[in-house]
Amino acid sequence: MDKLEPKNKAMIGVYGGTFDPVHFGHLRTILDVKERLGLKQIRLVLCAQPVHRGRPSATVQHRFAMLQQATENIPDFIVDTQEMVRDKPSYMIETLKSLRQQFVQQSLILIIGGDAFEKINTWFQWQQLFDYAHIVVMQRPGSNIENVNLTLFLQEKLTKNAADLAQKEQGYLYFQNVIQLDISATQIRQKVAQHESIDFLLPNNIIKYIRDNDLYLGDFNA
Ligand code: ATP
Repeated sequence: MDKLEPKNKAMIGVYGGTFDPVHFGHLRTILDVKERLGLKQIRLVLCAQPVHRGRPSATVQHRFAMLQQATENIPDFIVDTQEMVRDKPSYMIETLKSLRQQFVQQSLILIIGGDAFEKINTWFQWQQLFDYAHIVVMQRPGSNIENVNLTLFLQEKLTKNAADLAQKEQGYLYFQNVIQLDISATQIRQKVAQHESIDFLLPNNIIKYIRDNDLYLGDFNA
């Protein structure tokens, strides 16, 4: 890992998700990003009302409780509830604007999986995301981001030098390799509905929470 110079800007990670439920595919990969890039903290933004997918299976209160419990012992992982309290569809651009007011001089790093990146041009005001943050894309099993043809707009944002991310507050695109964990929330919900074990896919206290609250038992909802 490159040692970043002290004059560099502190870097704050922003990681949005439905977290229905949170699992090791979320947690271990962002820990990799945090350590490799030297982020100060990662804010896990719970997407209360997703725009590009069906209604989540668990309520926002359950998803929040699971996210909180999964991260309570991980220093510098902070659950960010701003999309929960906004009471309208969750748009990342709004979240970044408000974080930018809070973190005026820091570098903001929006972390997304490769599958999400392939559809980024469907996000509301997606090009403006770079006015508020860098975007770091994690390679996810099944998505082949190296082979995606970047548009000219994205090519101009691309850097291969991680140190650049600490030099400016926003504006770069960077691809980060992370540990490959082929785990998805969909797979976990399906296993629970089919009474299969979900051991070793997510933290034990979250498995207990799912059991205690009878989550994901009904008809499987992909
Ligand atoms: P679902 O299966 O319900 O669609 P999910 O497991 O993909 O859920 P989300 O909460 O929708 O989880 O994802 C939030 C973010 O986490 C997205 O950017 C997604 O690409 C990323 N992500 C999820 N699982 C992994 C994984 N196993 N490896 C890398 N990134 C992941």
